Amino acid sequence: MNENTRELIIIGGGPAGYTAALYAARANLQPLVIEGFQWGGQLMITSDVENYPGYAEGVLGPEMMKDFRRQAERFGAEFISDDVTRVDFSERPFKVYVSDEEYRSQAVIVATGANARQLGLESERGLQGRGVSYCAVCDAAFFREKNIVVVGGGDSAMEEATFLTKFADKVTVVHRRDDFRASQIMLDRARANDKIEWVTNAVVDKVVGETGVTGVDVRDVNTNEITEIPAQGLFVAIGHDPNTKLFVGQLNMDEHGYLLTHDGTATNVEGVFAAGDVVDHTYRQAITAAGMGSMAALDAERWLTAQHGHPYDALTAPRAEAEDVEPEPVAVPVPAKQPA
Ligand code: NAP
Repeated sequence: MNENTRELIIIGGGPAGYTAALYAARANLQPLVIEGFQWGGQLMITSDVENYPGYAEGVLGPEMMKDFRRQAERFGAEFISDDVTRVDFSERPFKVYVSDEEYRSQAVIVATGANARQLGLESERGLQGRGVSYCAVCDAAFFREKNIVVVGGGDSAMEEATFLTKFADKVTVVHRRDDFRASQIMLDRARANDKIEWVTNAVVDKVVGETGVTGVDVRDVNTNEITEIPAQGLFVAIGHDPNTKLFVGQLNMDEHGYLLTHDGTATNVEGVFAAGDVVDHTYRQAITAAGMGSMAALDAERWLTAQHGHPYDALTAPRAEAEDVEPEPVAVPVPAKQPA
């Protein structure tokens, strides 16, 4: 067991976790960031990022994550590059485990993110960031006047396909059934778009290309016939999974497993805060995750200040000594002013 009880542990090493670490470190909370074995989050499978403010020339996703991490480290954040295996939020200090090692803290920020579902093909993995993408808002502008395949039959696929037509010459939606999970309105909008073509009852068999995508092999699920669709991009839009298995039974979640927060970033457990894609299934951007990370750190810092400022221990101390002593006036902590 690690003997020290920390002020703050941050679970997760993506834009939300590192930004929370930066703010918390600058507030002197000396946060411990348990960032995961594969730290960096979804940006580690992204190539160019052109929509993060401050990088006028754009930046590679992994480079940006290194910058985030280094900035937090500069102010004293500490890191463990391993996965949290268990948490116990039933009492304070909270306990966070990495295998058998126990870490304790007064407050926790959960920033474990979400993963875009992948098709699971080797050829897909090999071309990630080189034509294979999981986010149209992030990458559409790289596909001007190109042919693109979008996989999926839900709202995300319809939204991404429609958005991509602003840039691409042609978008082919490939879906494994001929019935769509997407809402009627999103489906109708996509169907009305004459840049979108449809291949149903088909799955992606292989992403073709050496250094970039040149085509997508699709297999008809009824006949097993394989056809290559010439394309320079493949957008996989088959859903996201929030990384919340660790918190089942402890933190409140919606029906898709995203953490529920209230009053900013507070969860149902006082002292546990949540930020980034683990909460947000709408925006899912590095900038929104980073913004929420800063909010969680400010919320945690104010909460910790309120705890320490409150004479909780004195009030619950054994009565014997307290009876003889005139009680000190209780200083009610005033929340810090909201920064501009
Ligand atoms: P989703 O509704 O779960 O749809 C996933 C789609 O991908 C389904 O059509 C599914 O096919 C297909 N799929 C799953 N695994 C696959 C695989 N391995 N290979 C091929 N296809 C696969 O996910 P989503 O579209 O991301 O939507 C998630 C939630 O967000 C929904 O509640 C949705 O309404 C919401 N959303 C809303 C908006 C909006 O309103 N603007 C935009 C995006 C998302 P099957 O249908 O055969 O299972």
